[in-house]
Amino acid sequence: MAQAPGPRRVRVLGTGGTIAGAAAEAGDVLGYTAGQIGVQQLLGGIAVPGVALQAEQVANIDSKDMDWAVWQALAGRCAHWLAQDAVDGLVITHGTDTLEETAFFLHHVLDARKPVVLTCAMRPATAPAPDGPQNLRDAIAVAATPQARGVLAVCAARVHVGAELRKSHTYRLDAFSAGDHGLFGDMEEGRLRRLREWPRSAASARRLQAVLAAPQPPRVEIIGSHAGASGRLVDLLLRERQAQAPDAVQGLVLAGTGNGTLHHALEAAALRAQAAGVTVWRSTRCAAGRVLPHAGDRLPGAGDWTPVQARVALQLALLEGRRDAAL
Ligand code: ASP
Repeated sequence: MAQAPGPRRVRVLGTGGTIAGAAAEAGDVLGYTAGQIGVQQLLGGIAVPGVALQAEQVANIDSKDMDWAVWQALAGRCAHWLAQDAVDGLVITHGTDTLEETAFFLHHVLDARKPVVLTCAMRPATAPAPDGPQNLRDAIAVAATPQARGVLAVCAARVHVGAELRKSHTYRLDAFSAGDHGLFGDMEEGRLRRLREWPRSAASARRLQAVLAAPQPPRVEIIGSHAGASGRLVDLLLRERQAQAPDAVQGLVLAGTGNGTLHHALEAAALRAQAAGVTVWRSTRCAAGRVLPHAGDRLPGAGDWTPVQARVALQLALLEGRRDAAL
């Protein structure tokens, strides 16, 4: 007689966020502290039929404070668990504020042939009606889906490709959008309704090793173009370079207007920076669309990456000794 299949085995890695947040007053959904409750405790009372869960705390921070060291630790633990036959998928609990950056980073760093599903909450765990437990259940269900792969994110019953989403609302429970890319799927009655192909990452073992070995990432700053913009911030950064400061800027992402256009004063400074050896990319501050290339562009465009995504992409490119806007 054929044996019944065993449970799907999902590891849940905690990094903090509002999903692990606690307030002094239960009714307070604004005045709370993120990253207070351990992931093991978050899993208490969460049961998904047919899924065996194990928890691991990687960090417990407010994701507005996300940094390279936590990303390195997270990438390392994800790579470790993805390589185990005894693990079918990963869930990462995370704050909403920089979830898009972590998801983009992991998509480009992990060769995720199994699912890596980030999830979050807009209300702290102590709220009268927290959204975290349902988001966590949904993320576990996605991570346990047979044939699932790639870095995904689940929030408010909507599933996004990790490399595509951005936080699009400050307060709504459904706080993310994938802009022009559209949804990856919906959660319906605890199951994934997939609308597109599973995402494929172009990450390599070499890139992961480069990330894990770098004590600090290349310094890349984001500067916005706006009415009345100047080149003064760029010039300050260039001065640090001239003074040979150890962590002097290596890359600049300009959050341009419209199709990546720049105030003439900022553009002149950016060209000076490029001439001085800084890698400069143009992205857009528009909520959707992309920077379309045009003959004669003197500063490369960063395609459809948001400024924060382009910053991560440029750090990874510089780590690999590249300057082109392609990963
Ligand atoms: N500041 C919180 C964080 O990103 C916000 C949230 O999780 O919704 O950790």
